[in-house]
Amino acid sequence: MITVSDVKQYLYCPKIIYFDHILHITKPADEKLKTGKDKHDSITAREKRRKGAIFYDPELDGAEKMFRVELESSTLGLRGVLDYLVRTDREFIPVDYKFGHSHKGSVQLNHKYQLAAYALLVEESFKTVVRRGFIHYSRDPINVRIDLDDEIRRRTLKVIREIAQIIEDEIEPAGTRNSSRCIDCEYRKYCIGHISPRPNPEK
Ligand code: SF4
Repeated sequence: MITVSDVKQYLYCPKIIYFDHILHITKPADEKLKTGKDKHDSITAREKRRKGAIFYDPELDGAEKMFRVELESSTLGLRGVLDYLVRTDREFIPVDYKFGHSHKGSVQLNHKYQLAAYALLVEESFKTVVRRGFIHYSRDPINVRIDLDDEIRRRTLKVIREIAQIIEDEIEPAGTRNSSRCIDCEYRKYCIGHISPRPNPEK
């Protein structure tokens, strides 16, 4: 089954899907993961104490807050653990935490589609329609709102299908054209001859 993290990774570089799902390469231990977990726990503890939500909106003062929500859909072939889900009488609002910077105050493209994938899972699990979600960038810190329209849903479903196809075909896809991404890539030492266009879900 594909994970929501795969959606983010695929849009960073499609080769990562191949290395992870086909070659099952074990990633080196990542210190950033532990730091990320500590920050996650700290944001969650603060959010539990807060009257409203992380993105202040008086309508949300009495909302139910759910943390680390496990979601899975056999229809989509997708699963993931959502950081934070706000539930009111009228709507469900998924929130994803990021422990880095935004893109100059805007969402990074792969984060946007990751949130949309969570929204699809929330819609199916809770039989609802998600209209908006937020990404919390802790380093800025800001909350970027994402409006979930039909176009984002369509593009996200297309990305999910493309990931599934890589796994089914077991053919190594081309990698990102943005070589600056390779500098910090955990799979760099396994990767050669990687330059080619990266997928653009906005097209
Ligand atoms: S090194 Fe570059 S091309 Fe290779 S998997 Fe990483 S990001 Fe993709």
